[in-house]
Amino acid sequence: MSFENLGLMPELSRALVELGYTQPTPIQTEAVPLALAGHDLMGGAQTGTGKTAAFALPLLQRLAQIPPAGGPRRPRALVLTPTRELAVQVHDSLRAYGKYLRLASTTIYGGAGMQPQIDALRRGVDVLVATPGRLIDHMERRSVDLSQIRMLVLDEADRMLDMGFLAAIKRILVKLPSDRQTLLFSATFEDAIKKLAMEFLRDPREVQVAARNTVASTVAHRVHPVDAVRKRDLLVDILSARWQEQVLVFGRTKHGCNRLAEQLAKSGIESVAIHGNKSQAQRLRALGDFKSGKARVLVATDVAARGLDIPQLPLVINFDLPMVAEDYVHRIGRTGRAGASGEAISLVAPDESELLRAIRRMLKNELEIAEVDGYAPSRPLDLEGRGGNAQRPGGQRPAGARPAKRSRRSRGGGGGAAKPQAHAGHKKHAGGARGDGSRRGNGTAR
Ligand code: AMP
Repeated sequence: MSFENLGLMPELSRALVELGYTQPTPIQTEAVPLALAGHDLMGGAQTGTGKTAAFALPLLQRLAQIPPAGGPRRPRALVLTPTRELAVQVHDSLRAYGKYLRLASTTIYGGAGMQPQIDALRRGVDVLVATPGRLIDHMERRSVDLSQIRMLVLDEADRMLDMGFLAAIKRILVKLPSDRQTLLFSATFEDAIKKLAMEFLRDPREVQVAARNTVASTVAHRVHPVDAVRKRDLLVDILSARWQEQVLVFGRTKHGCNRLAEQLAKSGIESVAIHGNKSQAQRLRALGDFKSGKARVLVATDVAARGLDIPQLPLVINFDLPMVAEDYVHRIGRTGRAGASGEAISLVAPDESELLRAIRRMLKNELEIAEVDGYAPSRPLDLEGRGGNAQRPGGQRPAGARPAKRSRRSRGGGGGAAKPQAHAGHKKHAGGARGDGSRRGNGTAR
């Protein structure tokens, strides 16, 4: 399947060739022809599947084919994204794909001055990429005119709802002309998303690339049980052993991410942290430093990392497990892209056993549990959800207690998918069969 076969105009195909895209990804193959034909769409796809191009290409083509109304250019397409980073990335993609089309685009998001955005809107735009909150600010000031919108994209709709944007989205949608095409992309389709779609989409076609809550099969998942207080040391050890790789580390809190970045710096590991408390300029600079290789480690919270477009990432480390199992899938979406193998390592303290169980259920136990020499936790992870049993210190049975029938640790792999790996040294992982060279070598991901 080629891009021309999807019905794309030569101006777009040419830009794609220059970007090195040779074949459409599955979501593009499915979504592009339907969107070009004018259908509303509900697209189930995560970051890394090529979903941005799946909506951006038909959007650009349709705008290029529909002549604008006379007078100053007012936005004819609107893309709503949950975060400013994603807005910037979508905008970058639109510009890259639309290089040979004469369409003007701009982004508006919070955390940046209003005036430059007002000026850009005044100069005239065809495509507007916006975060919901800031768009409402502009609507209230009447600095944006949405009366000409013909296409609307809701990107990462599930995340927008998670972030509490439902009311804002509805306020925006009721102001848009009803005679428009709407494309909704979401990694998950919970009831709230379906309700939104029912209310605002017309006879939508559904396109789905990966079943809900599945991760690329090329990703190896490993859990290192470790006490919370020893996580930082273990992380430093892992990062030191894998000194040639770029790594994305997830933390749960902004504060935790900052502290972690500081600690890594003390250990001589260049890292940058991005989270919601950072200014837009700081976040973009951090992302830029990571992308350019200036910083080897990016420490991020879930919200801040949403939609980050990071090329060829061999390893993602969960310093903390996410509070919601679905976020594990989002995090891991940054590795193993487009057939390249990837690795996901989670440092899990006994107190996080419940979160781990939820993730194991979702992934059907495809997690290898491997203790690292010198980092065995003071009590085992409670993999079966037996509560009190796990409270006993590992290896040190209280006087009089019956011996455990079988070590929990030794059946850690679970589901037959992973081998028991008690006392596997992490250095072994770094240089094993799935070692760094091979991971990089076969990378076709972007
Ligand atoms: P996305 O899922 O939209 O975040 O895209 C993930 C990455 O895949 C981005 O770096 C895109 O530039 C890249 N990409 C999207 N479609 C293709 C394609 N057909 N061929 C090669 N790379 C692509």
